[in-house]
Amino acid sequence: MKAVQYRRVGHAPEVVEVPVPEPAPGQVLLKVSAAGLCHSDLAVMGWPAEQFPYPLPLTLGHEGVGTVAAVGTGVTAVAEGEAVALYGPWGCGRCHPCAEGRENCCPHAAALGVMPPGLGSAGALAEYVLVDSPRHLVPLNGLDPVLAAPLTDAGLTPYHAIRRSLPKLLPGSTAVVIGVGGLGHLAVQLLRVLSPARVVALDTSEEKLELAGKVGAHETLLSDGGAAARIRRLTGGTGAEVVLDFVGAEATLAVAAASVAVAVAGDVTVVGLGGGTLAVGFGGGLPFEVSACFPYWGSRTELMEVLDLARQGLVSCHVETFTLEQAPEAYERLHAGDIGGRAVVLPHG
Ligand code: NAD
Ligand code: ZN
Repeated sequence: MKAVQYRRVGHAPEVVEVPVPEPAPGQVLLKVSAAGLCHSDLAVMGWPAEQFPYPLPLTLGHEGVGTVAAVGTGVTAVAEGEAVALYGPWGCGRCHPCAEGRENCCPHAAALGVMPPGLGSAGALAEYVLVDSPRHLVPLNGLDPVLAAPLTDAGLTPYHAIRRSLPKLLPGSTAVVIGVGGLGHLAVQLLRVLSPARVVALDTSEEKLELAGKVGAHETLLSDGGAAARIRRLTGGTGAEVVLDFVGAEATLAVAAASVAVAVAGDVTVVGLGGGTLAVGFGGGLPFEVSACFPYWGSRTELMEVLDLARQGLVSCHVETFTLEQAPEAYERLHAGDIGGRAVVLPHG
């Protein structure tokens, strides 16, 4: 089968021929219908050799949807032909957070060598992907696989990030979304569905701001040195109750710190892996009482909830589709900021 692999640190990903994997007892083989390209893949491919944590070659792709092609012995929870979404942040499956479905918080995964597909294990940018357990498959129940694939990360991650702040997103409140790419344009929609907050979207690109407006942002602002002052003005001087940063660079974290509200103990939630850091502590730059958090992906039940929202037509990912052979070119375009919404690869055309 064909697979998109990151093979050598510092080199572009390549489309290569590899054997179709066979499911061992307890495992499931998925025929991949659609797989999304995430900016995190670019971050991974930017890490230096001495810090690179995964074995190479690595088949990329941590956002996948497919149909069950074969099951290993003992697997009865899914049947051949069933359409499913792949839950990526695999945990040990036995500890307290895993039992709650919060496998993204499993404290044992790293020590056990359990790694997500595309982020350590072979991923979904291939004709087939091996899934370690049927526990990690959520039925699509009629959802379009192309629109569903990005929801497994670009939908799930902002959903998880927003949920923790919902008690602060009351009528009259303001939520700021910095970076309206794959995750950010879904964050805008999720905020509109889940809360009555006014949504202010920031990006450096006019096209992305246009998309933000189309998907429901009340205000769109260019992300520059004056952005925090404009947010303060828009909020009558108080600032935003919740700031979600999907970039995470020094410049955007500075905007987040300068635009979050002090009076209601606002939240700064950093989702982007932009390499910036936020100083927490007195004199650190954040207003008093503000909470800062850097969430990771989401839980299995949250994925079910995001898919439910999509099934109801309440969120919809903007996608541009590519063949497997075009994946390296799609990554280049993502790197150049030239993808609106999510790039989705269809390995079987
Ligand atoms: P993307 O490339 O689709 O979108 C990034 C957006 O940010 C683009 O619209 C770009 O124009 C905009 N941008 C860049 N610099 C900006 C600036 N200074 N101010 C405002 N906007 C700016 O990326 P994505 O796939 O949506 O991922 C977003 C980030 O989230 C990445 O850093 C990714 O690694 C990270 N991520 C984190 C998690 C997690 O669990 N924490 C999960 C998935 C992705
Ligand atoms: Zn991702």
